[in-house]
Amino acid sequence: MSSIFTKIVQGDIPAYKVAEDDRFLAFLDINPLVKGHTLVIPKQETDYLFDLDDNLLGDLMVFAKKVGKAIESVIPCERIGMTVIGLEVPHAHIHLIPIYSIYDMDFKKDKLKLTSSEFQAVADEIQSAFQ
Ligand code: AMP
Repeated sequence: MSSIFTKIVQGDIPAYKVAEDDRFLAFLDINPLVKGHTLVIPKQETDYLFDLDDNLLGDLMVFAKKVGKAIESVIPCERIGMTVIGLEVPHAHIHLIPIYSIYDMDFKKDKLKLTSSEFQAVADEIQSAFQ
């Protein structure tokens, strides 16, 4: 069965997309720790990040860097934190999180509740800053 992220790639379920090319996709985490919390994935479905082909992994990081630069240009933050967990969704992904402190990356915290229009506004801002 396809992962939920493959369903997003295929357009079968919606997501607040912020950047895309032929191999990678970035979209807002639906349970964000902070505004602008974004996931970056390879479109090719592989469960574990470290099982990706070396070139794909390297290019994913470069894509994530560009997404991170776009996020930090529109979301107030000290820098973009990056983490990989992958215990919930078996499709390799990188979390990009605008942070002021290490506590902004505490996954045990209550998640932000944003309305659909708030999610869309954040996604639109990041997307327009992505180059
Ligand atoms: P983990 O696999 O532990 O890195 O966590 C998966 C992350 O994916 C969590 O932060 C979820 O909130 C997020 N997530 C799960 N389903 C969706 C979805 N349909 N759209 C956006 N984010 C999602």
